[in-house]
Amino acid sequence: MSIQIDKNKCISCGKCCDICPGNLIDKDDENKAFIRLPEECWGCTACLKECPVEAIKYYLAADIGGKGGYMYSKNHGEYMDWYIVSADHKKYCIKINKKVSNAY
Ligand code: SF4
Ligand code: SF4
Repeated sequence: MSIQIDKNKCISCGKCCDICPGNLIDKDDENKAFIRLPEECWGCTACLKECPVEAIKYYLAADIGGKGGYMYSKNHGEYMDWYIVSADHKKYCIKINKKVSNAY
């Protein structure tokens, strides 16, 4: 279970570094984010939700039926769009109202 960070998209804001509860993301010599210890990522998705430029992907491995697909998220004000891209490149979107999803 792990994420991948696209350095070409990263704008070096540091939000993912600050939010990761395991302190697993750092900056490299070019001030771009990278995951230091991918094997320790437990997939909480906090970093995906914080990234303002969708530079972070979360891989959907075979053990959860992903077979090499991935997902990423995009903020739209009170909504969060979750994009799931399957291994055969089909894209699905799940739109979540953040106010409702956080109302326990
Ligand atoms: S998914 Fe969670 S644990 Fe993994 S790197 Fe992102 S914030 Fe850290
Ligand atoms: S949150 Fe996104 S843009 Fe900001 S440092 Fe992390 S990967 Fe780069």
